[in-house]
Amino acid sequence: MRVSRLFMATQREIPADAEIPSHQLMLRAGLIRKVASGIYSFMPLGYRTYRKVEAVIREEMDKAGAQELIMPALLPAEVYQESGRWEKFGPEMFRLSDRGGRSFCLGPTHEEPFTEAVRDTISSYKQLPVTLYQIQHKYRDEKRPRFGIMRGREFVMKDAYSFDVDEAGLSESYDTMYKAYRAIFDRLGLDYTVVDADSGAMGGSGSQEFMVKSEVGEDGICYCDECGYAANEEKAGCVTPAQDTADMLDIEKIHTPDVKTIDDLVGYMNCGADKFVKTILYNIDGKIVAAMCRGDRDINETKLANLYDATEMELAAFVDVERVTGAKVGFAGPVGLKEKIDIVVDSEVSVMRNFVVGADETDYHLKNVNIGRDFEATTIADIRNAVEGDVCPKCGKGRMKMARGVEVGHIFKLGTKYSKALNCVYLDKDGKSNLVVMGCYGIGVGRTLAAIIEQHHDDNGIIWPAEVAPYKAIVVPTKVNDEANMALAEKIYSDLAAAGVEVLIDDRNERPGVKFKDADLIGIPLRITVGRRAGEGIVEVKRRDSDEAVEMTADEAVAAAKEI
Ligand code: ATP
Ligand code: MG
Repeated sequence: MRVSRLFMATQREIPADAEIPSHQLMLRAGLIRKVASGIYSFMPLGYRTYRKVEAVIREEMDKAGAQELIMPALLPAEVYQESGRWEKFGPEMFRLSDRGGRSFCLGPTHEEPFTEAVRDTISSYKQLPVTLYQIQHKYRDEKRPRFGIMRGREFVMKDAYSFDVDEAGLSESYDTMYKAYRAIFDRLGLDYTVVDADSGAMGGSGSQEFMVKSEVGEDGICYCDECGYAANEEKAGCVTPAQDTADMLDIEKIHTPDVKTIDDLVGYMNCGADKFVKTILYNIDGKIVAAMCRGDRDINETKLANLYDATEMELAAFVDVERVTGAKVGFAGPVGLKEKIDIVVDSEVSVMRNFVVGADETDYHLKNVNIGRDFEATTIADIRNAVEGDVCPKCGKGRMKMARGVEVGHIFKLGTKYSKALNCVYLDKDGKSNLVVMGCYGIGVGRTLAAIIEQHHDDNGIIWPAEVAPYKAIVVPTKVNDEANMALAEKIYSDLAAAGVEVLIDDRNERPGVKFKDADLIGIPLRITVGRRAGEGIVEVKRRDSDEAVEMTADEAVAAAKEI
């Protein structure tokens, strides 16, 4: 391909609304173009790399015995109503209706239509197991679309679904997918960790996420160096400490004017935040619930939402807080609530004695409060985020460490949740009807592409791993008006093209500096510069991932490019 003909516009400035390197570089290199919030076009260079990621995924899925098919993105409501997810998805689902008033959605994920297809196609155990997949657009009206294609509202997912006769079969199918995922992310040159993941909202018995380690990751990863345990922060369990056996002291009301936050309170009362318990009011599907955790901890909203099997959960509105507590925001506590509401107490708090809480009265707190004596918990459960230094919930010896990651893939043992809802059954050897046991497995294709850039770039641009580079080599003649220079460049270009190497020639009448900058920005693995020694047949070869340029003959350069 001739760069002079390439439909591409590179950009020197960092785009204002792009916060993370991969998003900035994808825009600067002209790989993608924003159409609307969370909705992007892939331009030719971007689409080439995108297709390479897709090809790796497809090859490994095929190798693992999964069969590719394609389903529509536009789906009738009924199948999601049958599973209950028409409601459950809430505002994240894009809904529309046809001219006859019939409801549809743009598929956010396809468990239901796949289950339906298998239900209608399979009748006997002899036809199982089967794993099906598609690589297709998904639509989710994300609350916060951001980071370019990392969190889009339209995005491509490879989604696979396995169907087995029993749990043992599911374990095998799951394991096969696990191995395929490792092969995919290894080939794509990613440094990743596999973590235990929350399986709450989807039901099911187990799930793992493939996390690409990155500071810009939206997910927290907790891990233990001692035993290798690693889990998503949403999921990481917290160990309940031993019961504090101090005597219960008399409750005291303390005047705390202008104290609204835990920090204010720590300063005011002159003791650690671990002596305070905060009470946070949530609106969970329309019901106000108080959640309590230690002052220096945070409520884990996933754990809390799972307790309630919630569809929508948010902090309670100020008016609700004021009505339920009878006080301004900042003074909520479990003693003296004006309405009877659920009080969910974190396990760690359940073993504390003589702690400080809001008094449900503006400008007051209560000291020496004790669970059981002063108030009752509706539920005691692990509802806090794990923090650095926590005891490992698996080995009980190591201390938890924290890192950040981008979730690129997710594998999931679903069990019979969807087969039950949609009556997907098979007949066993004895002619008895049984529910099919399912798994589901997703990879965000665009997100994976962005994650590759996140781990493979420098100040000058992208450094594509060879497997996904849009072109493997770029020939850069420094003087397009010089006959010898251009003739040698063209020869190298055509030799490489003939050898099947994906190659660019930068035939633009631009200064070499401009061409080098663009070649670096778009991340082509090998640059062959045809410069002042063109007359002698000598060129300069530089790998994108190295600072060193090496002079060699044109033939040697062609051989080096073929190797890549
Ligand atoms: P997240 O927690 O990031 O919202 P999720 O748990 O909703 O992800 P899944 O439903 O498991 O994601 O989807 C499978 C894969 O699809 C994810 O591992 C991710 O790679 C990708 N994915 C999910 N949501 C998006 C999105 N909005 N934009 C791009 N890729 C996405
Ligand atoms: Mg999501």
